[in-house]
Amino acid sequence: MTVTAATELSERELALLAEVPTGLLIAGVWRPAASGKTFDVEDPSTGKVLLTLADAGPEDGAAALDAAVAVQDEWAATAPRVRAEILRRAFDMVIARADDFALLMTLEMGKPLAEARGEVTYGAEFLRWFSEEAVRSFGRFSSSPEGTSRLLVQKKPVGPCLLITPWNFPLAMATRKIAPAVAAGCTMVLKPANLTPLTSQLFAQIMMDAGLPAGVLNVIATSTAGEVTGPLIKDNRLRKLSFTGSTPVGRRLLADASQNVLRTSMELGGNAPFLVFADADLDAAVDGAMAAKMRNMGEACTAANRFIVQDTVADEFAAKFAVKMAAMTTGRGTEPDTKVGPLIDAKSRDKVHSLVSDALADGASAVTGGAPVDGPGYFYQPTVLKGVEPGARILSEEIFGPVAPIVTFKTEDEAVALANDTEYGLASYVFTQNLNRGLRMADRLEVGMMGLNAGVISNAAAPFGGVKQSGMGREGSVEGIAEYQYIQYIGMPSPHNA
Ligand code: NAP
Repeated sequence: MTVTAATELSERELALLAEVPTGLLIAGVWRPAASGKTFDVEDPSTGKVLLTLADAGPEDGAAALDAAVAVQDEWAATAPRVRAEILRRAFDMVIARADDFALLMTLEMGKPLAEARGEVTYGAEFLRWFSEEAVRSFGRFSSSPEGTSRLLVQKKPVGPCLLITPWNFPLAMATRKIAPAVAAGCTMVLKPANLTPLTSQLFAQIMMDAGLPAGVLNVIATSTAGEVTGPLIKDNRLRKLSFTGSTPVGRRLLADASQNVLRTSMELGGNAPFLVFADADLDAAVDGAMAAKMRNMGEACTAANRFIVQDTVADEFAAKFAVKMAAMTTGRGTEPDTKVGPLIDAKSRDKVHSLVSDALADGASAVTGGAPVDGPGYFYQPTVLKGVEPGARILSEEIFGPVAPIVTFKTEDEAVALANDTEYGLASYVFTQNLNRGLRMADRLEVGMMGLNAGVISNAAAPFGGVKQSGMGREGSVEGIAEYQYIQYIGMPSPHNA
């Protein structure tokens, strides 16, 4: 299998790239790194350089935090309606440029254009949702039980935040943090992933154009993440760290954050089980499996990582699933027929292949796929493996690629034990036509989110997040803004006792 696609950038692609700011955004000004250093951003479908960005060093990180700290008080005092309207304008502006944002994400990350458009809709929705939440952040006023005092509870912005985002959803992971921080009245420093920073650069300019005051959002792309963010996390003017990324990096950042007892939100890795019971609508389960596995080429924290299928329907499920997987066209995301883009880099593709090779060596068989794709870029065949043994490495690590291992069970208890046999607890999917069983599974699965007969669960109005080593805190929904607020209580005597 080979991929043939145009590898030269079109005029439209070049024109869009020319619009992306290439500097660091500090105190409202795009500027070069203090060291003058730069780094390249590549197209993963060709390996060619798309753009060269300023490469922040520790002194730039310090300048970005200085800028965020300088305007924190003024920003916190800005009327919620003003903050809301900036977010709402930004929503309109992103939607007006949906095609540009989609193309930019496809270029730097590789996902097919149709999926990138879906991410624009999803990512922009956080701007609209939190523009609505900004003006509905209520406290309380109550009497103490003995009636002698009055209790006033108010919510205040936590203060300057450091936001660190991964490469897989370049727009949505940024808006899911920036929008609630803006709504709550926090200033911030964003460190986007070095593999896909271009979307954040263009989006930050949109926020400025929408009226966000200088210094509220600072953006420091860098090729040396730890060196730049380490001193910021130790700086006691920083009040919050919100991180989305892998569990090993999250653990390290949590240890650093403990020095300052920093507020943290951690959206970490996943190992989602996808359970199919014999009483499921099998065609619906296959459609759900396609969505839960193949969104973003499997490079999603919510991606179904383990297909746990009742033994009596496992062969039929595997056969139907494999037919759909094999029919997917692999190619550069900008090609109209493409359904599966490249993986993000050679390391990711090689890791996926080593997981598949290990499973095959241990006796699993490939119903379809099972190998990398020749050609430029980092493509991997959509793959379905059956006969995978419980305990196999591929069931315990995040695959982050278009590979679906199937393991079978006989009883519900066995299914639950298999599903919970992981350090992760982010997403899960259950297919059954028995509603009682479905709700029972929600009680029994150790996860933050469950799709019941649904393969897609992400929604700006839903509380997104995990348990166990998938993290802590929630993004989106009414919980999302609370991550950027602290509660202050004021006690006063009851007016009747005064
Ligand atoms: P990653 O390697 O952990 O990187 C995530 C971010 O952390 C990037 O911006 C990265 O910068 C930065 N980083 C890496 N090492 C750091 C350090 N020592 N100090 C400070 N920052 C550091 O994860 P990834 O490969 O980008 O993303 C994939 C992972 O994210 C998967 O595990 C996936 O499940 C998880 N994820 C979770 C969610 C969720 O909501 N739970 C959503 C999406 C993805 P560089 O880019 O410069 O390395």
